[in-house]
Amino acid sequence: MSVIYTRVALIGLGLIAGSMAHAMRRHGLAGEIVGTARSPETRDTAREIGLCDRVTDTAVEAVKGADLIVLAMPVGAMGRVAAEIAPHLAPGATVTDVGSVKGDVIAAVGPHLPAGVHFIPGHPLAGTEHSGPRAGFAELFENRYTLLTPVADSDPAAVMRLRGLWEGMGAIVEEMEPDHHDLVLAVTSHAPHLIAYTMVGVADHLRRVTESEVIKYSAAGFRDFTRIAASDPTMWRDVFLTNKEAVLDILGRFTEELFVLQRAIRMGDGDELHAYFTRTRAIRRGIIEAGQDTDAPDFGRVKTRKDDAGA
Ligand code: NAP
Repeated sequence: MSVIYTRVALIGLGLIAGSMAHAMRRHGLAGEIVGTARSPETRDTAREIGLCDRVTDTAVEAVKGADLIVLAMPVGAMGRVAAEIAPHLAPGATVTDVGSVKGDVIAAVGPHLPAGVHFIPGHPLAGTEHSGPRAGFAELFENRYTLLTPVADSDPAAVMRLRGLWEGMGAIVEEMEPDHHDLVLAVTSHAPHLIAYTMVGVADHLRRVTESEVIKYSAAGFRDFTRIAASDPTMWRDVFLTNKEAVLDILGRFTEELFVLQRAIRMGDGDELHAYFTRTRAIRRGIIEAGQDTDAPDFGRVKTRKDDAGA
């Protein structure tokens, strides 16, 4: 593949930026990859493992001469970083982000960017519960959606160029309205994460079950909740604080559905439960048919003796 940007600046060097660095390198999409992170520890690790061609101590140094700047830190910090780098951006450069929320990021970042700099927000729908500069891998975005949410004055040619970068990293790219993005993600990602956090919290508080029993007998359902609930606390705090309205809307609907099921259980209404679970099973089938998950037993996990005991 050919070089799409001559110098890419990654601001934040965690799972997502690290995966972008690996993927851009593997596919030859960037002339030079410059990175920076907030803490000296992360910058040192990035240097040690050769994550980027160059690691700078500040975001201001990193963006100098870059034609693509990627904001890859928790969404609550993006406005502040945008204000810091804005005076140092090259004319014609594109600023994008990878944040899990779009409306709030656009409101926080957009006003700082000078005329002549393209702002094209984005969000790769790919991740793991791991974070930090060692967590990234080149295949993370392959066959996963990346949503771009161009703003009113985003230049179509700049959008096409950014689309080319994501496609070069293996992603399927679609464009979406920012508000619609936030509602869709509240359903598919944000509310499920909150439910996982809550369920693990419930188990933690259940004094009758000792911690060791929860871990020892964790069957597939609870174990999957614990994986999700191990996600980065800062990132998820910011997601809920910045996508407040959509998340509260979905949680309201969730509570209503929960009451429907609770009532069916209380009334012994097996038909209602069976019909409900049949509908939800079809959604799972749709996700597999869309190639967004595997139908291998237990999500394709490799079994160990320990897993067998717990499953
Ligand atoms: P991560 O692995 O936790 O890395 C975050 C990076 O941001 C670190 O390099 C960190 O620097 C830096 N950072 C943290 N707070 C900062 C601040 N206040 N100012 C400047 N830099 C700061 O995070 P990630 O998973 O890559 O997530 C990055 C973004 O991608 C988030 O906006 C998230 O919503 C989005 N996203 C995440 C996923 C996912 O599954 N993880 C999926 C899609 C999108 P230090 O290490 O020096 O603290």
